[in-house]
Formats: sequence, C-alpha cells, structure tokens
Amino acid sequence: MSDCLFCKMVSGEIDVPKVYEDDDLIAINDINPQAPFHILIFPQKHISTLNNIGEADQQIVGRVFLTAKQIAAEKNFDQSGYRVVANCLEAAGQTVFHIHFHLLGGRQMSWPPG
Ligand code: AMP
Ligand code: ZN
Repeated sequence: MSDCLFCKMVSGEIDVPKVYEDDDLIAINDINPQAPFHILIFPQKHISTLNNIGEADQQIVGRVFLTAKQIAAEKNFDQSGYRVVANCLEAAGQTVFHIHFHLLGGRQMSWPPG
C-alpha cells in the first residue's frame, strides 16, 4: 500500500529505528508514548483493520503475542505487567489503517480503558 505509513516503514521509505524486526513483523517505539514503554508491533504485510485478518494470517497474529512477551522480557517489564491492545476502526480510536498492536508497560494501568 503506497499511501500507508507503516508500509513505508516496512519498505524503508520512512527510516525509523526498529525495536524488533523479522521476516514477518516489525516493532517500533510509538511517537506519542502513553506509558514508559509504548511499542507498536505490526506485520510487514498490509492488513488494514482487525476485520480484514484472514485464516492465512493466524500464525503472524499469534506471533505478535510471542514477540510482545519477548520484548517485555528484554526490556524488563514482563514481571511487573503490561498490556497489549489493538484498536479497530473509529469507535476504538484507530488512526493508522495497517493493523498494529500496542505494547504498553512500565506503569500501573486502570480498567476499563477510556
Ligand atoms: P491507533 O490510534 O491505534 O491507530 O494507533 C496509532 C499509533 O501510531 C498512535 O499511538 C500514534 O502515536 C502512532 N504513530 C503515528 N505516527 C507514528 C510514527 N511516525 N512513528 C511512530 N508511531 C506513530
Ligand atoms: Zn500498510
């Protein structure tokens, strides 16, 4: 997708430091962090919303959570606790239409989310 912010990060058109990268996934620091650790994990493949995930994507989506766990351990907030959240469409506040999972940690969080 030529007009997608995260696809431009995948292609290198936008150069951004990577927290993690493999053949399927990228993780970056959120530009507007909502916690001491706020990392975005997204597939290299363009999928616009959670509604567009298909059966063929289940391994990649599953690996998002293994990657979240791994990053949390590397950055030492796995034992204090963290949150993984994905927003789908307008009511949830999705602003970038390439699926991504927010990994938030390093502070006490409240529930329910706003
Ligand atoms: P969402 O609102 O769930 O779609 O999340 C989009 C996230 O992308 C927000 O938390 C933004 O702060 C973040 N974001 C937007 N532009 C950039 C960027 N250039 N680099 C890193 N994070 C970004
Ligand atoms: Zn994209």
